[in-house]
Order: sequence, then structure tokens, then C-alpha cells
Amino acid sequence: MTALILDGKALAEQIRAELKEQVATFSAETGVVPCLAVILVGNNAASEIYVRNKQQACEKIGVKSEMYRLAETASETELLTLFETLNRNDAVHGILVQLPLPKQIDEQNVLDAIVPQKDVDAFHCDNVGRISQGRPRFLPCTPYGIQELLIRNNIATAGKRAAIIGRSNIVGKPMAALLMQKGLGGDATVTVCHSRTPDVAAIARQADVLIAAIGRAKFITADMVKPGATVIDVGMNRTEEGLVGDVDFAAVKEIAGAITPVPGGVGPLTVTMLLRNTLTAAKLFKNR
Ligand code: NAP
Repeated sequence: MTALILDGKALAEQIRAELKEQVATFSAETGVVPCLAVILVGNNAASEIYVRNKQQACEKIGVKSEMYRLAETASETELLTLFETLNRNDAVHGILVQLPLPKQIDEQNVLDAIVPQKDVDAFHCDNVGRISQGRPRFLPCTPYGIQELLIRNNIATAGKRAAIIGRSNIVGKPMAALLMQKGLGGDATVTVCHSRTPDVAAIARQADVLIAAIGRAKFITADMVKPGATVIDVGMNRTEEGLVGDVDFAAVKEIAGAITPVPGGVGPLTVTMLLRNTLTAAKLFKNR
């Protein structure tokens, strides 16, 4: 039987419509327009597209976005100075620096310089610690979107086995933290695999929920999937075929119970959860 296709694009549109109403209500009640500062360093073509998408998404739901551009040669000090200004600016509620950064800039130094209350990507060590302890301020956008996709499609995680292939700070690790937390969208038994894991296929085959965040086109093949499992494909690989996920979609959809496509799966939800985090940041500012 062919899998249920989990339509991230449609769900993203639904959540953005909800957010648009919530932003309008918040702004009417408080006089505050949520504002996201987006910082782009250098001329990475993909980053340019991501940043433009984020700004357009903000505009559509009534969130203000401000763009700050630094040259490819910008120093870490220049970027930190900009953060100091934005951290102090009460009209800016969320700060996002588009990754990757040029080599001369230490990514973690920079991410830790954003005041945690404005860290809408949830990459600051304070926010990561809070997530780990189950008392988050913000949730990291990609895992947050995946959790929302599972919840809104009534895909149970409680008591289920989840396998995450990939242990990055952006996707794999926080995804594991979310799925193992107590409560809705959590309570799973989680295994995290990486490049040093022997027999990834055997672990993947045991998973009721399989999440691929590897960055290798079609890495997850049909023989790695438990029949009826939910398969979430985070991968975005630019190949001769175009944009391809980490999952061999055509073959795996015949085995899985539910599956996200690429494009149109996880990607649109990531930006959507950034919008939600920005509204949360504006509410935090108002309530402090
Ligand atoms: P990353 O930082 O490169 O991490 C990749 C992970 O995959 C690493 O933990 C790596 O293990 C593991 N890995 C690599 N080869 C492996 C193998 N043969 N077997 C098992 N594990 C292996 O990537 P990322 O930032 O997490 O992104 C992953 C993918 O998701 C990329 O395609 C990226 O473009 C995409 N992405 C999409 C979104 C979205 O919104 N849709 C958001 C973020 C990322 P080691 O740690 O041992 O090296």
C-alpha cells in the first residue's frame, strides 16, 4: 500500500494563517509589531534565497523584518558589534544570522552572543540547555516543524521507537531532545545514528518513526524501512535530478505508512516555526 504523503506545504499554509490572526490580535492589544532582524554575511547564493523566503514569509503574516548585510570579509568583531546593537534595540524581538558563516567567523561564538530572549533559532547554549531540561523558551525550527507535522497528522510518538539519522546541532540532536521529552509529540524511545554507527540499516528498520537528516541523496532505501513506519525526510540535496531528499522517496513510499516529500515536506514548516518563534519573542518582550 502506498504511504500517506505528509503535505508540509499545506500544513505550513494553515499554521501561517493561524499565526497571521495571532499576530494581528497581539499587535492590536499591545501596539507592538513583532520584528525579526535577519543578518546575512557574504554572498552565498542559497543563503540569499533562504533569507528572501524568510523575509517574505514575515511580511505575509504581519511580522516586520529588517535585513542587515555584512561583506564576505566581515570580521567576527563586526558581527558581534552588530549583535550588541540589536540586542539592546527594543524594537527588534528576534535575531537570526543565516548560516553558514565565512570561515574567519567562529559560529558558536557568534550564536552565543545573541541575547537568549531574541534567539529565535534556539541555537544559544542557554536555549539548548532549556530544551534539554524540558523547559524551552523557543524550539529549534526544523525539529519543531517536524514535531508539529507529527502531532497534526495524529502520528503517535508515545511508546514508539524513533530513529534519527544525523546528529547535527541544528536537526539531529534537538530532534532527539524533542522526541524524548514527556508529553504530546514526545515520549518516544529514541536512537540517534551518525557516521560512526555500525549497521544504520538495522537500527532504521526497527523505527516506527524514522527521521533522515544526513545530507546524502536517497541514503534511506526501502530495505531500511519498517513496513508502515513514518518516514520524515529532512535532507535537501541539489543533484542533477533537482532537489532530492535523503530518502529514496519512490521506493520508500511503497513500504512506509506515511512519508514527507522533498520539496514540500519539512522545508516550509521550518520557516513557519521561525515565524511562530518570532511572535513568542515579541510576547516575551512585552511580558518581561
Ligand atoms: P550535517 O550537519 O552535515 O549533519 C549530517 C549528519 O549526518 C552528521 O551527524 C553525520 O554524522 C551524519 N552522517 C553523514 N553520513 C552518514 C552515514 N553514512 N551514516 C550515518 N550518518 C551519517 O547536516 P544537517 O545540518 O543536520 O542537515 C542534514 C540535511 O538536512 C542536509 O541535506 C540539509 O540541507 C538538510 N536540512 C534541511 C532543513 C529543512 O528545513 N528542510 C533544515 C536543516 C537542514 P557525523 O556527525 O558523524 O559526521
